[in-house]
Amino acid sequence: MKTAIYPGSFDPVTKGHLDILKAASEIFDRVIIAVAKNPDKHGFLPVDVRVKLIKESIKDMPNVEADSFDGLTINYARQKGASVLIRGLRAVSDFEYEMQLSQANSSLAPEIKTVFLTTKPKYNFISSSTIKEIFLNNGDISKFVPEEVYRYLTNFYKK
Ligand code: ADP
Repeated sequence: MKTAIYPGSFDPVTKGHLDILKAASEIFDRVIIAVAKNPDKHGFLPVDVRVKLIKESIKDMPNVEADSFDGLTINYARQKGASVLIRGLRAVSDFEYEMQLSQANSSLAPEIKTVFLTTKPKYNFISSSTIKEIFLNNGDISKFVPEEVYRYLTNFYKK
């Protein structure tokens, strides 16, 4: 049984994230999408809301679970019995950071491998920060986020 962790901020989860997750769910037996609690990063949505929105968006993926964690991703992965970390790549600009992160993780935990996936081209440019910016400037984000996220943001955050 191969378990993979897909760690990230997911602030909020997007259709890009879900596309990566769907691919991962077809490759691995069990996938945990896990929101990293980062004390240095002041988020847009609280962590528990991010997890709730993810849970609502993954109902059609039976082997996927949503969770959050503190501390190092590799420690969380070990605790969950996972041997794989999933990360997404959008552009060359992601590559340097993701490469460093995967090498640091691999040096700390050689038994855990990072697997990089890409999205369908139509989701490639989507990032949580772009979505926040469009939303906060009253743009339409319905094409970029799952319906649950769209509904939540529209109901609770519209000025
Ligand atoms: P982090 O703060 O850890 O980068 P994010 O929630 O922004 O968390 O992203 C989590 C992972 O998903 C990262 O590996 C990121 O590169 C990837 N990702 C996000 N959006 C996309 C997308 N549209 N296409 C491919 N990968 C993506």
